Amino acid sequence: MQHNPWERAKNQLHNAAEHISLDPLFLAKLGAPDRTVGVSVPMRMDDGSVRVFEGFRVQHNNLRGPYKGGLRYHPKVDMDEVRALAFWMTMKNAVVDVPFGGGKGGVAVDPKKLSASELERLTREFARKLAPVIGPSLDVPAPDVNTNGTIMHWIREEYARVSGADAQAVITGKAIKDGGSEGRTEATGLGGSYALAEYLRLTGQHPQGMTVAIQGFGNVGSYLAGYLQELGFTIVALSDSKGGIYIPGGIRDLKAVAACKERSGKIAGCYCVGSVCDVTNMEQLGGRDISPDEALTLPVDVVVPSALENAITSDNVADVKARIVLEMANGPTTIEADRVLAERGVVVIPDILANAGGVAVSYFEWYQNMHGETWTKPDVFAKLKEKMDAATGAVYQASLQHQVSLRDAAYITALQRLASSAA
Ligand code: NDP
Repeated sequence: MQHNPWERAKNQLHNAAEHISLDPLFLAKLGAPDRTVGVSVPMRMDDGSVRVFEGFRVQHNNLRGPYKGGLRYHPKVDMDEVRALAFWMTMKNAVVDVPFGGGKGGVAVDPKKLSASELERLTREFARKLAPVIGPSLDVPAPDVNTNGTIMHWIREEYARVSGADAQAVITGKAIKDGGSEGRTEATGLGGSYALAEYLRLTGQHPQGMTVAIQGFGNVGSYLAGYLQELGFTIVALSDSKGGIYIPGGIRDLKAVAACKERSGKIAGCYCVGSVCDVTNMEQLGGRDISPDEALTLPVDVVVPSALENAITSDNVADVKARIVLEMANGPTTIEADRVLAERGVVVIPDILANAGGVAVSYFEWYQNMHGETWTKPDVFAKLKEKMDAATGAVYQASLQHQVSLRDAAYITALQRLASSAA
């Protein structure tokens, strides 16, 4: 049960609810999604065969506004995972205080095994099935793991075909030329850096001299690494699904590492000196290779799971040495592991706060579309900082007031805001 994200989500809800007085009807409304949609996605493969994929959309709650949340393409996607992710979106949107409810969806598929045209056919078929239940004021999908602006564009086109209305605001995470917002690509990583920096400021600590290991070097992990480095943190380890690198003295040129991963498809071996990235530089840099999960257990100050759920579990929690866990992935810590971290005094900056920057800028994108406005990148970043600082401050204050962990405090903050919308 510890690996079932939906069980964990319900456990988190009830833990937080114990600290405040809430109407049982309100709690029951949050304890199950408003609607679950399962669709069949049949498609012809390039070799002429036909395969049928399973697609999902869960609309958890819309008390504060339209359902909002990403679409994920991954072989492990299933209804329980999507249900939990949709619930976390309801909570996250309330914590970061945007007028959205929570939703999530996905297809159980390994997109890396599809050709470009298969990916497009799959997406268009999935979008046609979703079209009746999404819309700018109803449910607004966005990119998540293994989906991107191009995929969002195909969804928008299919939505327009089925509904007869071309609505720019039916999805977010669009390319700028299609009505996307400046700053959305960087938003989740940047928002995480704001949350960590604000937590340190509130607790009288400074980034200088603090070491960081990051698991997952996709959209979130790669931008986060760059922004944390700008703030003065030393990034010492990075990993992706194939492995990673650990350089105790610090990985200096993150752009060179990103370019190396882009070229070679993996971080392993990306030991960069100048523009030359090669495993032959490993010794000179004092580095060593690590496994994908080893990034979580290195001797660092801050560890950042930014890949998938269930990264820190009862199997590896005893080996986590960091004193701060910045949860950039959704649901990266199991219930049991969370308990152990709390007992050891490790501070966990919870996912529904740490990675809320993405949906905050998705809201900015939706708002700009709905109001015909275009904001500059500095404007978006300033508004994002305001949202993340306010959310971090509110959660920190709730943790002091109720004498609870930041996770329980984030849920308390969200539940109080949701309850006042329900009243
Ligand atoms: P991406 O698909 O861009 O990147 C995921 C990264 O995780 C990739 O580098 C992937 O490796 C790596 N990875 C996968 N499995 C492992 C593993 N076992 N060990 C180490 N690394 C692994 O996704 P995002 O960056 O967009 O999302 C990451 C997390 O952040 C997800 O949990 C997502 O739900 C969450 N999130 C994302 C938001 C966003 O705006 N994108 C918003 C809020 C949350 P490889 O490169 O080899 O494939």
